[in-house]
Parts: sequence; structure tokens; C-alpha cells
Amino acid sequence: SVVTRFAPSPTGFLHIGGARTALFNWLFARHNGGQFQLRIEDTDRVRSTKEAIDAIIDGMRWLGLDWDGDITYQFERAPRHAEVAEELLKAGKAYKCFATAEELESMRAEQRVKKQPQRYDGRWRDRDPSEAPAGAPYVVRLKAEQEGETTLHDLVQGDVTVKNAELDDMILLRSDGTPTYMLAVVVDDHDMGVNHVIRGDDHLNNTFRQLGIIRAMNWDAPQYAHIPLIHGADGAKLSKRHGALGVEAYRDDFGYLPEAICNYLLRLGWGHGDDEIITREQAIEWFDLTSVGRSPSRFDFKKLENINGHYIREADDQRLTDLVKPRVEKTLEQGLSSTEQALLLQAMPFLKPRAKNLNELAENSLFLFEKRPLKLEEKAAKQLENTSGSLLAILRKTLGDLLAWDSESLEKALHDVAEQADLKMGKVAQPLRAALTGRTVSPGIFDVMILLGQDESLARLDDQLS
Ligand code: GLU
Repeated sequence: SVVTRFAPSPTGFLHIGGARTALFNWLFARHNGGQFQLRIEDTDRVRSTKEAIDAIIDGMRWLGLDWDGDITYQFERAPRHAEVAEELLKAGKAYKCFATAEELESMRAEQRVKKQPQRYDGRWRDRDPSEAPAGAPYVVRLKAEQEGETTLHDLVQGDVTVKNAELDDMILLRSDGTPTYMLAVVVDDHDMGVNHVIRGDDHLNNTFRQLGIIRAMNWDAPQYAHIPLIHGADGAKLSKRHGALGVEAYRDDFGYLPEAICNYLLRLGWGHGDDEIITREQAIEWFDLTSVGRSPSRFDFKKLENINGHYIREADDQRLTDLVKPRVEKTLEQGLSSTEQALLLQAMPFLKPRAKNLNELAENSLFLFEKRPLKLEEKAAKQLENTSGSLLAILRKTLGDLLAWDSESLEKALHDVAEQADLKMGKVAQPLRAALTGRTVSPGIFDVMILLGQDESLARLDDQLS
């Protein structure tokens, strides 16, 4: 059965491209009823950090990409990687290379002068190790095939062929005995039973090197699917160095929901007709590698915002309230009381149709909690400046006289005011909204009044009349 994996290097946070790779691997495994594994490639001891590992795990959990079994930490497996290198040495498929750093540097300098490709020239390939000075340091290199060519049947890229002579004898073990990335990936994928490798097409060249090791070990090669990288809206490569684009930025800074991110990332490079909104269940049912496009997709914030708006409208009110609460509290610089939290929950059905992200949702709810007299937004202040005092006075009087404070009574009251003042309904509602919320955009005016209650609504009107 299918086994996929996501194998991030914890040298940075889970960036959005990595999240898509993880999602595709996860979906492919779930679609096929197989397994999805997580391997942390922490062999770069200097650049790998605990914070990055935590951020990756946290990001995966947030996106709902659960993995099967325990997390594999690549560094812990270094002895196993060395064992495979030893096996290759014994089988004559690898050899010790004693070339010194200076020697290799002058070899490369010569290649540069002759305008030849920079490549190890195999100088120890056929030499007897006993020719090296006793105790001299060495690396272990793969005795790569030099004849013929290798064709990769990539599930996304199609057939890709490379001449074996183009690949030099790569290093498997460094002189300190640590494995190289190429060796570690191959051994881990094999031992973990990975049979489908779905990853960014920046790894395509590596695949041919990795296939060399796999052949030398007589192992079965996994199937490969190299997916095109995500580009920015400008067409430039979206890289890890766009630090702000870690998934936690999408969660914390931009206020997106995980299901929106997954839906958007899925659509970025994979399609199911014209479907834009695809639920997780549908994604699992429909996902395949044949529908992954071959050209890089462009990251489009507008589309993501629209999808996020959809999922906000769909989301449960209590969940949204929990997500929005800390954002509101941050802006207000104080905690919400339980009454205020209940109010936020009560307001959610009226707030969520208008918000594309959690920040907007929080922003649009502030009028509920702001203390009187409200600080008016510029547009709202203008609106009120252009409103006659008599209109506000009639509004105050009519609303003050109301005995019932429900949408029916409120609607009737505003109609009466509009009639008395000989104005259209909108001309009455706009200044009222400005006075009650300090803004020109808000939930429907009747909903606003009901949420605020009669006393608070009248008090806010009074503030504008005095
Ligand atoms: N650790 C590699 C990376 O983060 C991925 C290795 C792989 O998928 O084979 O780019």
C-alpha cells in the first residue's frame, strides 16, 4: 500500500510551499488508504533548531495533516546511514577518496580555466587505498555508473532522461563519518517503506543521484512526483527566505483558517474542473497526481482571501468567537468580560458575512466594546457633520419612546422617522450607524441596535447630540 512522507529540514519554519508539499503527500496517502509519515531532516546541526521543529509540528497540526506512527528524526539514524555506506564499500560499489581539500580546489580551478563542468574527476575510483598515507582522512564516494543514461518516469514531469556520465561520484560519508543528505534521504525512504516521493521540482536533479544509490543497493526505487514550485504574484520564486510566509504568519498575522489554507494550496497546482471550494472529504476522494499541473502556479492573495471569506461564513460561531477574542483584546488592550464574550458570540452571525479574515472580523466587532464617547472614524465623523441636528433629535426621541426593542419595532420606528424627515431610509440609517458604531460599515442597522441594546444605543446617540 501507498506510503508517502513529508521530509522538511528544520532550518526555517513551515513555509507555504512546504505546507503544500505536505498536503499533497497527505492527500495522496489518505486517498489511497495508505500511510503518511513525517521525517525531520535535522542533519544540519548548525542550522537546525528546536524552534523550527516545533513550528513545523505545530503548523502540521494546525493544518490537520496528521502523520502515521512516530516522527523520524534523521540525525538519530546517522549510524544506519554509515552502515549502508560500509555495505556499499564492501560490495565495491563505493570507494574511499583521500583527495585533500587543496587538491580538489586545484582540480576545480583547472576545470574552471578549461571551462569544464565542476565535477569530481574520479581520481581515487580505481586506486588502492593503501596508496594513501596511514591514517589520512577520507570520504566515501559512490562508484556511480558512467555509461548509459537514466530515465525517470516522473508522475508529474513525465519521462526525464539524464546521461549517467553527467553525474560524478558523489560523497556518501564525509571525512568525519557523517552521512550526506543524498545518502540519508535514500536510506530513510527505503527503511520507512516510502514508495511515493512527492516533493518540489527543485529536487529533480537530486533524484538522479539518489537513484544511483538505490541501484547500487539493489533496492526498489520509489515512484517520484516532482511538483512545480509556487511563485509569487510577480512570477518570481517564492522561497523560504520570504520569512513572513511561514504558515504561522498566515494564521497569526493574516488571520486565515486552516481549512482555507488547505483548500487554497490544493487548488494551487491541482485542479478538479472549475471547483474552487473543495472540502477535505472531497479532496481525499478526488486527489490524484495526474491532475497536478506542470507549470509553476502563482500565489494569489486575493483568491486566498475569497476562499477564507467562504470558510469564515461557514465556520461555527463559537469557534470564530474563540479565534477573534484574543485579537479584540489585543486592540482594546484589555480582556473581554464573560458578558462581552457572550455579546461577541451573539454578534457573530451578523459579523461573519462581511469578513475575509479574522483581523477584519475582530476589527468589525470593536464597536460592540468601545467605550463612550466613541472615537469616530473620519468618514463617520463627516457623515455626522453633514447630518442635521434635528434628524438626530427625532431619532433619539422615537427610539427613546420605544417600548419594544426588536427588529420589527425598530424597523417601524426608522420608517416613521424617515417619513417625518422626508428622507429615504438609507439617509436615516447612515448617520445612525455612524453614531452607534463610529463607522460607515457595520452589520445591518437593526442588528447593531439589538446587539447594543436600547440604553447603550440611546447613550451613543446622546453623545452625538450634546
Ligand atoms: N529536506 C528536504 C527539504 O526540506 C526535502 C527532502 C525530500 O523531500 O526528499 O527540502
